[in-house]
Amino acid sequence: MAEEERTGRDFIREIIDEDKRTGKHNGKVHTRFPPEPNGYLHIGHAKSICLNFGIAEEYGGKCNLRFDDTNPAAEEEEYVSSIIEDAKWLGVDWEDRLYFSSDYFDQMYGWAEQLVMQGDAYVCDMTAEQISEYRGTLTSPGKESPYRDRPIEENLDLFRRMKKGEFGDGEKVLRAKIDMAHPNMNMRDPVMYRIVHKPHHNTGDRWCIYPMYDWAHGNEDSIEGITHSLCTLEFENHRPLYDWFLLKLGVYKPRQIEFARLNMTYTVMSKRKLLELVEEKLVNGWDDPRMPSISGMRRRGYPPAAIRDFCSRIGVAKVNSTIAFELLEHCVRDELNRTASRFMGVLDPLKVTIENFPEGKTEMMDLINNPEDQEAGTRKVPFSRHLYIERKDFMEDPPKKFFRMAPGREVRLRSAYLVTCKDFVKKDGEIVEVICEVDPETRGGGAPDGRRVKGTLHWVSAEHAVDASINQYNRLFSVEDPLSEDGDWKSYIDPNSMEVLEGCKVEPAVKDLEEGTGFQFERTGYFIIDKGSRDDKLIINRTTTLRDSWAKIQKKDQGK
Ligand code: ATP
Ligand code: MG
Repeated sequence: MAEEERTGRDFIREIIDEDKRTGKHNGKVHTRFPPEPNGYLHIGHAKSICLNFGIAEEYGGKCNLRFDDTNPAAEEEEYVSSIIEDAKWLGVDWEDRLYFSSDYFDQMYGWAEQLVMQGDAYVCDMTAEQISEYRGTLTSPGKESPYRDRPIEENLDLFRRMKKGEFGDGEKVLRAKIDMAHPNMNMRDPVMYRIVHKPHHNTGDRWCIYPMYDWAHGNEDSIEGITHSLCTLEFENHRPLYDWFLLKLGVYKPRQIEFARLNMTYTVMSKRKLLELVEEKLVNGWDDPRMPSISGMRRRGYPPAAIRDFCSRIGVAKVNSTIAFELLEHCVRDELNRTASRFMGVLDPLKVTIENFPEGKTEMMDLINNPEDQEAGTRKVPFSRHLYIERKDFMEDPPKKFFRMAPGREVRLRSAYLVTCKDFVKKDGEIVEVICEVDPETRGGGAPDGRRVKGTLHWVSAEHAVDASINQYNRLFSVEDPLSEDGDWKSYIDPNSMEVLEGCKVEPAVKDLEEGTGFQFERTGYFIIDKGSRDDKLIINRTTTLRDSWAKIQKKDQGK
């Protein structure tokens, strides 16, 4: 990643600067991104990816990709491959450092036996309900388990038999022996291992006991020699436990640092909720362009550079906040404005006939591919007697400020000719055709006498146009924070968040674009060729409109 901007000092970089100064970890920086393969990555994960990989790169360190696959119940191979694909697409590189927590199960088990032998862990026969009942509350201490003082030998024997599969799910757990009256509930003899007789995507049926997150995570970080273990704020009061385990084991201890999760308006961000949307078919899969998933954003046409730019602009902080969706869109427009080729496409076609242009004649017009990028060059676009323009670019009886096509009005057809509207055809009250006359002296769109026209329209030649169906996507939810509204958050899904436009007419060059190529339809928005698109029937997704509302939102926020 070559984002020079991402060198701003935040509290995490300040900590690392200080560690470098004092020679902690011999000046080494090693981070990791540890997704659980129980869903697809979302834009919140992108924040974590950019942070972890970004820091490693800035400090000449390393960052691992580690699958936190300690729960066989929810995890699947499909998620592993999608996470790899999405992280690669975002542009980060873990080289040969792709790890699985499940590869450390033997080591973790050995360490658990060590804690048992030290008298720091015990096997407990209480049910999950009893354990939670005994935990106490924030204001009252917990109660000690009746199994807490089992002799070490008995604990060791039972733990080994748990591993061998002698007990059923939930019959026994291994717990750390800390303090049932600890003010931090996480320290009240937390569960380290539970019995789950379920095959695991990586270890098959080798194991029937699985480590809990708090036990596993520090172990994994320690094994990999992570220096700074960056996680989200909800783990702040798990840190004493993270430290406790590693101190008891007497092994290398990284430093856990917490930062605020990304929340975004008009979006839900947890994998569990996104999975609900997918399973209940409220969206068309994880890569539905309305999803905040990385795969959805890719399919919608958000470039990876725009997502990285967004992550760098939001920065990292210690306080949770909600970022406006419009900022992400702003980053997308910014990137696409610089990089996307321009084409002409008519979403809602209205026929135009140029009565003084010969039938059957085709002239090739030169159009600029990207005014922001001289090197992008020009292309030829066919012009003929029968054209399409956008229905909303014509008005029979226009108001004063309407500068587009109207009876008697001269307008420019982009990079082609000036034409004057002579007449129109109406059928059942609807305008079905506009008749124009071209000024042949204005080829290219300029008048030799220097006369000015106010309106410039995009157009396509009817005979050469390619048919397209265009999916227009809006925000999935109609309210800023569906989770804080009354009732079911899913009832705030906007039923019009996906609109399919059939019969769109686009210039022929668009059919040569490959699936996944983003571009601009002039005056209309940014688009991308969708999967399943064919030469004779293009399927196009709208990425975003051209109008950027970010500045307005910023102003509003500052006024608050
Ligand atoms: P979710 O709540 O969406 O299920 P998670 O935290 O359970 O997310 P993990 O797979 O455990 O998902 O996350 C991998 C990494 O990404 C973790 O380090 C986690 O802290 C980070 N992460 C997840 N969601 C966000 C977010 N919204 N903002 C920033 N980082 C996030
Ligand atoms: Mg998680």
